[in-house]
Amino acid sequence: MDAIASRIIKARQYVAERDQRIHVNSFEVQIDGDNAIHQVSYNRGIWGCDCEEFVRRGICAHVMAMEEILGDAVQPAMLAVV
Ligand SMILES: [Zn+2]
Repeated sequence: MDAIASRIIKARQYVAERDQRIHVNSFEVQIDGDNAIHQVSYNRGIWGCDCEEFVRRGICAHVMAMEEILGDAVQPAMLAVV
């Protein structure tokens, strides 16, 4: 097997085992809402969003959407806000 083929196989293994192997440290994401564009951020367990609901409650649909997409690679938002 050549080097490229073995890298592709290894990459697929990381993807298949993502829940154990992939841990997101930080990111910034833009979510295009129906009425406004929102910026969601994450830094080592601390979630942020610029929408009103997040400022009031510490959770919002934008953060929840990113939690769903990223699964076990991130810490749950509810636990990050105490
Ligand atoms: Zn939000």
